[in-house]
Amino acid sequence: MTDTQYQYIDGEWTEGESDETMTVRDPAAPDDPVISFPQADRNQARSAVEAADAASDQWAATTPDERDTILYDVADRIEDNLDELAATLTREEGKPISSSRAEVSRAAELFRYIASYARTATGDTVPSSDPETFTYTFREPLGVVALVTPWNFPIATPSWKLATALATGNTVVFKPSSETPMIAKRLVELVEAAGLPDGVLNLVVGSGSTVGDEVTTNERIDGISFTGSTGTGQHIAESVADRGIPVQTEMGGKNPLVVLPDADIEAAADAATAGAFGLTGQACTATSRLIVHEDVAEEVTEAVVDRAESLSVGPGMDDPDMGPAVSADQDETNFEYVDVAADDGATLLTGGGRPTGLDSGYFIEPTVFGDVESEMQIAQEEVFGPVLSVMEVGDFAEAVTVANDVAFGLSASIFTSDMAAARQFTEQVEVGVIKVNGTTTGSQIQMPFGGMKASSSERQKEMGQRAYEFYTHEKVVYRTDP
Ligand code: NAP
Repeated sequence: MTDTQYQYIDGEWTEGESDETMTVRDPAAPDDPVISFPQADRNQARSAVEAADAASDQWAATTPDERDTILYDVADRIEDNLDELAATLTREEGKPISSSRAEVSRAAELFRYIASYARTATGDTVPSSDPETFTYTFREPLGVVALVTPWNFPIATPSWKLATALATGNTVVFKPSSETPMIAKRLVELVEAAGLPDGVLNLVVGSGSTVGDEVTTNERIDGISFTGSTGTGQHIAESVADRGIPVQTEMGGKNPLVVLPDADIEAAADAATAGAFGLTGQACTATSRLIVHEDVAEEVTEAVVDRAESLSVGPGMDDPDMGPAVSADQDETNFEYVDVAADDGATLLTGGGRPTGLDSGYFIEPTVFGDVESEMQIAQEEVFGPVLSVMEVGDFAEAVTVANDVAFGLSASIFTSDMAAARQFTEQVEVGVIKVNGTTTGSQIQMPFGGMKASSSERQKEMGQRAYEFYTHEKVVYRTDP
C-alpha cells in the first residue's frame, strides 16, 4: 500500500479513480498541505457496496465468539498506536492533542464495550397464550450497512458505528468526512490487521455528493447510519424514503444551558465555558445558548466572559485550551456568524476576532454575545464554532420556552439546587440528552446517545445497552411443535 491508496475495497488498498484530488491540510497551518491523493469515484463506491454484499452471508454466519475476538483485538491495536493516532487526528482536524488522545482512548473503549453486543444482542421469550405454542423473538443482521460520518469526532464516531455493525454480523461500506481521511484510513488498517475477512469492511474516500450519494442510495444497501449536519441527514433520509430501509440520522444541535438563581454560579460558568469553547465549539452537543435567570444574569455572564478571556488558543499540537476551526469553510462561517449576530443587535461581550499572532491558521477568539433574543439568527442556527449567546429570562417557565424555541433537540443542561425544578426540566425540555448540573457536552458509552426534533431521526439511539437494535431485524416466532 502506498500513501495515496485511500480506498479499501474487497480487501485491497487502491488509488481513487476520480479526476478530483483530496488535499488534507493542518488547520493550524493550512498553507502547507499534509497530503494530496485522488478521490474515489462513483464506480469504486459501487464496487465497495458489491464487495460488502458478496461478503454478507458468510460474515452473518460467523459465531459471536469469532466476531468479538476481532473487535477486542481492534481495541488493543488502537491502544497500542495511541500516540501516532492522536497526532494524526490533531494534524488533520486540529483539536488539542490531549483531546485527540482522549478520543483515541475512547475509540478503544468503544470497540471493547461494543464487542459484547456480539453475544448479548438477544431476543425475548414471551409468555404464550397458547400452552402448545412457544413464542419468542430473535435478531438477524440487516445485511450491508452504509456508515457516513463527520469530521469532529473522526475516530470515535466511526468506531461506535463500525463496532456495532460488525458485532451484529453486518458488512460495511464506510464513507468518512473529506476533512479527516487520514484517521479513517488508519482505523480501517487496524481493523484489517485484526483479521477481518475481505469485503466485510470497505472504505471509500471521496466527495459526499458522488461517493456518499452512491453508498447511501445503492439498492444493495440495507441500512444507513449517518452522523453530520441536519441538511445532509435529511437529504439522505429523503433520498431513500421509498425503500423503507432503516436510516439513523444524528445531526446538528443548538444546545441550551439554563442557570436558575439557586445554582452554583461558579460551577455553571465552568460548564458553560467548557461546553461552548471546548473542541472549538465543534461538538454537536456544544453549549451555544446560555439561558440565565435575570437575578444572576450579570454575575454568570461576567464569570463566563472572564473564563473565555483566560483560555489559551493555538495549534493543537501545543495542547492549548482551544485549537483552530477545522477548515477554511468553518473559519468563514464562524466570522460570518459574528457579523450576523452584531447586525441583528446582539452585543459582543468578548472575542469575535482572530487571536493576535495566529494569522495563518483558522483561529478565532472564544466569543460571547449578550442581549441575544430568541428570534435572532444567532439563537436559532448551529454555528459549530466557539460562539456563545447569552439570553436573559424572567422565570423557569420562560427558560424552558426559550430552550425549546429552536428546531434542534440534541442536548440541554440545567444548573439549580432545586431538584423539583430539575425534574420538571427533564420532563419539559425537548432534547434527547439532559444533564442536571453538568455540561451539555460529554456522554458515557454505556448510556444511549441521540436527539429529538431536527437533531435526530430518533431511529434507536447510538451506544448504550441496546444500540444493536438499529443494526438488526427482529423476527417474531410462534412455534407449535407437532
Ligand atoms: P456534513 O457536511 O453533513 O457531512 C457529514 C458526512 O456526510 C460527510 O462524510 C460528508 O461527506 C457526507 N455527505 C455530504 N453530502 C452527502 C450526500 N449528498 N450523500 C451522502 N453523504 C454526504 O457534516 P460535517 O460538516 O462533516 O459535520 C458537522 C455536523 O455534524 C454538525 O452539524 C454537527 O452538529 C453534526 N454532528 C452531529 C452529531 C450527533 O451525534 N448528533 C455528532 C457529531 C456531529 P463530505 O465530507 O465528503 O462532504
